[in-house]
Amino acid sequence: MADKRDYYDVLGITRGASKEEIKNAYRKLARKHHPDMNKDNPKAAEEKFKEVSEAYEVLADDQKRARYDQFGHAGVQDTFRHGGFDWSDFTHFGDISDIFGDLGGFGFGGSIFDQFFGRTQRRGPQEGRSLRYDVEVSIEEVAKGVERELRIPRSVECKSCGGQGAKAGDSRTCPTCGGAGQVQRSQRRGNASFVTITQCPTCRGRGRHITKACADCGGSGSTQTVSNIKVSIPKGAEEGMRLRIRGAGESSPNGGPPGDLMIVVHVAEHPVFVRDGKDLFVEAAVSFNQAALGDQIEVPTLNGKALVTIPPGTQTGTVFRLKAKGLPDMRGKGSGDQFVRVTVVTPTKLTTEQKDLLKRFGQSIGRYERSATKRSFFGGRGKTG
Ligand SMILES: [Zn+2]
Ligand SMILES: [Zn+2]
Repeated sequence: MADKRDYYDVLGITRGASKEEIKNAYRKLARKHHPDMNKDNPKAAEEKFKEVSEAYEVLADDQKRARYDQFGHAGVQDTFRHGGFDWSDFTHFGDISDIFGDLGGFGFGGSIFDQFFGRTQRRGPQEGRSLRYDVEVSIEEVAKGVERELRIPRSVECKSCGGQGAKAGDSRTCPTCGGAGQVQRSQRRGNASFVTITQCPTCRGRGRHITKACADCGGSGSTQTVSNIKVSIPKGAEEGMRLRIRGAGESSPNGGPPGDLMIVVHVAEHPVFVRDGKDLFVEAAVSFNQAALGDQIEVPTLNGKALVTIPPGTQTGTVFRLKAKGLPDMRGKGSGDQFVRVTVVTPTKLTTEQKDLLKRFGQSIGRYERSATKRSFFGGRGKTG
């Protein structure tokens, strides 16, 4: 998400802002962008409100703030479990509860807080917990794509009772909620009255009252298992890439759908190649003679060795490009390149004869080197040496 705004900019504060300044800035903006205060354009206000709340969620937390300062948005990705900010990720409602108080409380007029409550105080069956699994792959695996079989310990729906916690005939309709799994409560706040809907406390949203618990799961509706789950890591996968496998998380505690499995891809450091996006970089050492006279050298690539032609007079630091020898693009748009950076190695441990040869060589080009130095120092054009 390259177009995401800097969190400090969003809150209009400096990077050195104190906790108090962060809180004050957020409270001011939360009030300003509250959808109930922007009846002419509540949708735009809600987006703004979410943006400032996301920034606050990160910057109000020392650890998240430190990670954000160091790594930017990528450092706090896992704060937002749904791939982006969601009210269920927000943990600071207490800091602005008085603002909602002023505006008549939660849950009015179909505002965003209905959604928020919809997620935390779930109505009826709730989704199982999502799991996260970190996978490390090599650059060679990134080049071709790789399939991995993961062993994931997780709870799954009990087969004996189908997740119901009791076999057929061993449960009856919940007397508290009449099978709905949720109960309604009327509340008054100031002059207004409103209805809150919460999960039924008797059956915890399942809608059934268990008279004889399932022997295999003890009535919980789930059993522990280790699942072998195959995951395909695509060609060109990047560090931090996430793959979501729907339904491969934990089973629901009350008959809802299972959670998801989130695979986070890490790319291991390579002893030879350095990766930058689709491109690869390697260093190659050449001798002084090879650099001066030119040569062909062998360099490693992901598909074996390749020959690179070093032209006569190559300087140290010169970079050669091997077209399309990098990594494939994740979206199938061709391949990156491999870059070879040449270092000219000065010879050490010379024999007396070699030293003598080099001295004579030095004398033969000495005059040229001196005049070249003079020209560049004094900016003269003519040959003054
Ligand atoms: Zn009930
Ligand atoms: Zn069972």
